[in-house]
Amino acid sequence: MTPPARLRVGFVGLGAIGRPIAAHLARAHDLVVWNRTGARAESFAADTGAGVAPTPKAAGEGREIVFTCLPNSPELEAVLAGPEGLESGLAPGALLVDLTSGQPAASRRIAERLAANGIGFVDAPVSGGVAGAEAGTLTIMLGGKDADVARAVPVLQAFGKRIVPVGPVGAGHALKAVHNALIAVNIFALGEGLTALAKAGVAPSAALDVINNANGRSFVSERLVPERVLTRLWPRTFRLALLDKDVDIAVQLAAEQGVEAPLLEAVSGLLHEAHRELGEDADHVEAIRLHERRAGLELRA
Ligand code: NDP
Repeated sequence: MTPPARLRVGFVGLGAIGRPIAAHLARAHDLVVWNRTGARAESFAADTGAGVAPTPKAAGEGREIVFTCLPNSPELEAVLAGPEGLESGLAPGALLVDLTSGQPAASRRIAERLAANGIGFVDAPVSGGVAGAEAGTLTIMLGGKDADVARAVPVLQAFGKRIVPVGPVGAGHALKAVHNALIAVNIFALGEGLTALAKAGVAPSAALDVINNANGRSFVSERLVPERVLTRLWPRTFRLALLDKDVDIAVQLAAEQGVEAPLLEAVSGLLHEAHRELGEDADHVEAIRLHERRAGLELRA
């Protein structure tokens, strides 16, 4: 098999998951990066040999493909806007691939605006966490026109294992929001259930031993709760604030489609509360602390 062509690639947003993704791109392509906190871009460049762009515009200039990995669509809009914004650096024929877990409606608006200048757009949110990004084994769900998706796929193979086109622009973001809402539902369901069981005298490890060998199991019960809650390690890889945002997007999606979603609305309310109580830097699994605090106990091994 011939190796994929070496392209001129830009990358914006070297956060928890952006940085390991960009490291794969730096090995496969000629990469230039921009990050709001410049020191992070400088340290990435020192580690990988990538170039540092002084502005978002410069991260787009002369680039065939530019990736963005930001908290949400409003931050993407902000990075695109203005005389030094990314949009002003992108030439006709360029492709913007948004790895952000963003908003479907905003992505459709952005794609339409870019298309008027001959620039393609694909929403390509990822799943698999920081560990999956480091290993280059992410699952990536794509929304976009067939021709844009076909251009994005070979480049995404640098860090994705399962790359699935799911529909037009916005479809990737819609699916990602629903996917993450399922994680949130599981976190709170286990928080409530394990807390009640602990009070009833069933140890969390005994409960999980049964659940994980039966049909109520999930990624949250098999991995997240044993590895992060029972150990009290709480590694911070995916911020609770971002999961809160994802469930908001899922609730909004259901409303736009006229689908009643009382469960998602309840989970969204709980996440808002956990976000307020635990702050901007808490990890998403820490949402379970909400139940622990109310019950006055800790779910330890
Ligand atoms: P982080 O909070 O770690 O990083 C966010 C990045 O966006 C940083 O580079 C930050 O810059 C930049 N940024 C934030 N606000 C702005 C702004 N207003 N203008 C310009 N740049 C800005 O987030 P993650 O890397 O964890 O997540 C990125 C996206 O990927 C999110 O949509 C998230 O939901 C999604 N995701 C994350 C996963 C994870 O495990 N972490 C898993 C799957 C998806 P600065 O360095 O200056 O703060």
